[in-house]
Amino acid sequence: MDSPATDLYSLTRPELRALVESWRFSPDHAARIWKYLYLGLAGSFGEMPEVPARVRSRLAAETRIGTLSARLETGSSDGFTRKFLLGLAGGEAIETVLMRFAGRATACVSSQAGCAMGCVFCATGQMGFRRHLFAGEIVSQVVHAARALRSAPEPRRLRNVVFMGMGEPLHNYGAVMRAVDILRDPSGLGFGAQRITLSTVGVVPGIRRMADEARPIHLAVSLHSADQAERARLVPAARKWPLDELMDACRYFCAALGRRIFFEWTLIDGRNDTADHAHAVGRLIRELPAQVNLIPLNPTAGYDGAPSRSDAARRFQRILADGYGLPSTVRQRRGIDIGAGCGQLAAPG
Ligand code: SAH
Ligand code: SF4
Repeated sequence: MDSPATDLYSLTRPELRALVESWRFSPDHAARIWKYLYLGLAGSFGEMPEVPARVRSRLAAETRIGTLSARLETGSSDGFTRKFLLGLAGGEAIETVLMRFAGRATACVSSQAGCAMGCVFCATGQMGFRRHLFAGEIVSQVVHAARALRSAPEPRRLRNVVFMGMGEPLHNYGAVMRAVDILRDPSGLGFGAQRITLSTVGVVPGIRRMADEARPIHLAVSLHSADQAERARLVPAARKWPLDELMDACRYFCAALGRRIFFEWTLIDGRNDTADHAHAVGRLIRELPAQVNLIPLNPTAGYDGAPSRSDAARRFQRILADGYGLPSTVRQRRGIDIGAGCGQLAAPG
């Protein structure tokens, strides 16, 4: 029978301390355990030599170091992208992607198994919703990626975490923010405010809540169209949270936090990449401190659009820059051959 053991990756540092104190052990042990978990990336209690045996045996009896099981690891022919298929307790599975760039590495983590939002061009949306992830399952993905980096060529350290894997992070707000708190802890993994980015399909209440709680992470909003009817055809969630309400929430976020916002735009040939589309999004977001990330469509089984041609992407960028003073980037295509690109993640249970 599965033990109801506490997943250590689900605890914040104060909670770990409280747990250790509840066993009547010194809080110094909690500090050491935390360092072994997040600086040493220990995968077992045996890798915690400075924690006394009596504390370790209590840990072993009542807690676990993560619950994910590594099922498969694939590497892209680009030499920079690795994808991990990780099994969850209960039988579902998720995917996590590790991307190495010159001098930096990024973990792209999942927040749910599947997704309820149903964006037509996204493989995760096409598989439907399976379940929310717990905070520990999110933190564990980052630790898994950090461990994989230790044995890789430079860079050895993870610099960024992006919530751009499977699932809609603002649909699983509590677990995602708990994971963010754990990832940010300065005596552990220590990801600073500039190094975590959350991407949302446009869950309006979640964006407002992030602003009200002054969450210190970057926000990226998946726009794809500046027209409500057209957007709703690509992103069904837009029916629930229409474009005008979404833009109000984005303005609220920028004003409340004095921060810029990123907009993502999946570029689909002939569908949302014309000069008119570029002008429409320029007009929509020009008043905001914004940056646009253009993502040429990646192939998925359930959608037969094609990625924009590179000249269309360049025209889009030029219109945003010259007409509206908006900076933009075209996302590097990474890991497409192993289904690790944006919107390609899907995991059979
Ligand atoms: N659920 C969140 C984050 C995960 S998806 C969100 O939707 O924002 C990360 C980004 O990939 C989103 O901008 C999403 O719209 C985009 N995307 C989804 N499917 C894609 C595909 N087939 N090709 C390119 N980008 C895609
Ligand atoms: Fe869900 Fe994001 Fe995929 Fe849409 S693009 S289905 S919100 S994971």
